[in-house]
Amino acid sequence: MKLFYNAQFHTLREEDDIIFALLVDDKEYIKETYTQIPKIDNVEKIDLNNSFVYPGFIDTHTHSFEGGLYSLSANLENAVNLDQVFEILSQTKPVSGKIFAFHFDENNVREKRFPIIAELDKIFPDTPLILRRVDGHSCVINSKAAKMIDWENSLPSDFNGYLFKRANGKASNWFHKNLTDDAILQAYHQAANIALQNGHTVVHTMIGDTYSDIKHYNLIKESLHLFPIEFILYPQITDVDIALEIGSPRIGGCVLADGSFGSHTAALLKPYSDKPETSGILYRSNNLWQNFIREAHKNNLQVAIHCIGDAAISQILNCYETVQQEDPKDLKHMLIHNELTSDEMLDRMAKANVSAVMQPMFDRLWAGKNGLYETRLGMKRTSHTNRLASIYKRGILLTGGSDWYITDLNALKGIDAATRIHNEKEQLTPYQAIEIYTKNAAILSGDGNRFGTIEKGKLANFVCLDEEILKSRSIKDIKINSVIVNGKQNLF
Ligand SMILES: [Zn+2]
Ligand SMILES: [Zn+2]
Repeated sequence: MKLFYNAQFHTLREEDDIIFALLVDDKEYIKETYTQIPKIDNVEKIDLNNSFVYPGFIDTHTHSFEGGLYSLSANLENAVNLDQVFEILSQTKPVSGKIFAFHFDENNVREKRFPIIAELDKIFPDTPLILRRVDGHSCVINSKAAKMIDWENSLPSDFNGYLFKRANGKASNWFHKNLTDDAILQAYHQAANIALQNGHTVVHTMIGDTYSDIKHYNLIKESLHLFPIEFILYPQITDVDIALEIGSPRIGGCVLADGSFGSHTAALLKPYSDKPETSGILYRSNNLWQNFIREAHKNNLQVAIHCIGDAAISQILNCYETVQQEDPKDLKHMLIHNELTSDEMLDRMAKANVSAVMQPMFDRLWAGKNGLYETRLGMKRTSHTNRLASIYKRGILLTGGSDWYITDLNALKGIDAATRIHNEKEQLTPYQAIEIYTKNAAILSGDGNRFGTIEKGKLANFVCLDEEILKSRSIKDIKINSVIVNGKQNLF
């Protein structure tokens, strides 16, 4: 047995609940908690050096495979012109014979455009290459890739490399599917290590994409014990039979009801402010969603769907409401992202027992003055984005996630962002912000009895910080001293 001491443990059972030592049994569970350091012999004593301890962070929405893969690839986040993009690409090593580049934002480069196919061919004439936009909703590929992918419709004769919507999905799917098992596992190991270093003990991860099979699912399921953190898996499919066959308790993920604000494809109830001729795109019909959700609900699968604009959220919420009225269950179907909402929609979410899986960092990135939200939606609608406090107040199960690779896999950044939402009325308190990355997150996956708080009978999963979150002036910069997963300490 191990006694962890010399720390202030914030248990998250209640806001002021603090203990000062705890005993972990040989089976990785918390056996006893103490408000004073106890005198016991015959146990291993682990000094936490005055750390401030919280339950291990849980990120409830990542694309860990892509995140891990891309962290082994070209990150274009800081490129300010296309020459820099080409320079970074030319130094990138292939993974399984393919070049991956991500985090490209045409608004951040001086030329304000994507590279074209001829420019990419010059650097990589013989190796397939994909360069994905920061939001993942469009990409550019080179000629080698264009030749290798088995397209549903042939490419136009003046194809310049740029792909969006279904063809974008098809291209990224081809790149992700044609990897060796070793490369896939390497990506997940990379993801798990990044998660651990940033204080996470559990990470929800999407597997496959809307256009793909879920080839990786069984491989990862069989390898779960190899990773230093726990992964919670989402088969990103709409085939209920397959989800049941693989024994998944949930289905979906970033299965798309709409696109993104960046690409003007998030579905809005009223037109875009900067492009009044469009209101975005609902990717699928009401009927299709209703049938899928009804079938999943009937089979006790928790459903997760990507919806960003208010029209997409309404569409999915309607379906959730219908199944919940027909057959009330405690499945906590998820609205992933849930970015633009009215009061009326939030009231309905609370009633329908729906959960909101949200990304506080989106507000940091896009809600500022002249930011993406204001450009696309105007001021009034921007104030209705990322409504964390309004959602929390209504008792809707709210959880935090990074949508990594879109934003960093870093819960402290998410907690920091949640307390600093641009619309002050929507800011969470630091305590509430921690809850959405710990306790609430555990409830979302039905693991409230196993982890999420520091208490007797739960797994010894916790993160030891150099500073107290509740009193910190810059939460995102707090140093992580160590992370304990299942009773094992990982020092940094
Ligand atoms: Zn996602
Ligand atoms: Zn998404």
